[in-house]
Amino acid sequence: MKKYTIAIHGGAGTLVKGNMTSEKEKAYRDSLELALTNAYALLENGGSAMEVVEEAVVQLENSPLFNAGKGSVFTSTGTHEMDASIMDGSNLKAGAVTTITGIKNPISLAKDVMLHTEHVFLAGGGAMEFAKSLNYEILDPSYFHDDLRYQQWLSIRDTDGFQLDHSTRDSKFGTVGAVALDQAGNIAAATSTGGMTNKRYGRVGDSPMIGAGTYANNLTCAVSCTGSGEYFIRGVVAYEVSALMEFKGLSLDEAASEVINQRLLKIGGDGGLIAVDVHGNVTMPFNTEGMYRAMMTSEGVKKVSIYKD
Ligand code: ASP
Repeated sequence: MKKYTIAIHGGAGTLVKGNMTSEKEKAYRDSLELALTNAYALLENGGSAMEVVEEAVVQLENSPLFNAGKGSVFTSTGTHEMDASIMDGSNLKAGAVTTITGIKNPISLAKDVMLHTEHVFLAGGGAMEFAKSLNYEILDPSYFHDDLRYQQWLSIRDTDGFQLDHSTRDSKFGTVGAVALDQAGNIAAATSTGGMTNKRYGRVGDSPMIGAGTYANNLTCAVSCTGSGEYFIRGVVAYEVSALMEFKGLSLDEAASEVINQRLLKIGGDGGLIAVDVHGNVTMPFNTEGMYRAMMTSEGVKKVSIYKD
């Protein structure tokens, strides 16, 4: 039987058991599980890895619990600027958007950049113009408003600080992503985020950057990251995992662990990633207290986790 598999994440950070009520924890688990099972159903019915990662991310973007789409964090000017990217491991095609506003599902716009332009990456006004040309609905900022994230922002808005929405106590957590291996043996990765609370106007994180927050190559692996974006950019984290497999012969697990637990830590970065390879292996390392994550394979493995195992 052909193996197929999906893994998703909803952000990594200071997730300490005991800081969260059991109702909240259940809400996160339920949301992850719903996105996982819906995306898995698509995979089971022969959906491509690209379709499956987009579907999983759309579902997580539509949940206010996560910092992507609805529920995105606030920038220093009190707005929402969202980033997303997607990559097809079968042909190394990719699409990405950054600093967009009012788009319900940024990941679909990223995919459309890949499908309908000669480019990989569209930013700000240009990305919005492109969205309008495809008749994307531009939603009112109220759709993205989430009171807890608003309170998080109010508490640091008058400072120069910016933070992962993960890093405050009792906070809602983050960036979302998905990786998948489909029945045809292809892999893909997708990542979507509102970025970091109180980030500067125009700040771009790792999530929309191919090679930093997202990467996929059938030769090696598909990777989606979450964490302190500036460090993930400097560490070229997603591509680094692929490079360690391709050029050093490391396994998926070894490569991902070396990047997250050694190289990234060395430069001061915190976060995690999810990754799959064409053999159906999955790894989900993080160097923070926790990471919202889930996976399901055609061999019957199913996991929804938040804290360290
Ligand atoms: N990596 C994201 C960023 O820096 C944040 C996150 O993972 O929550 O924009």
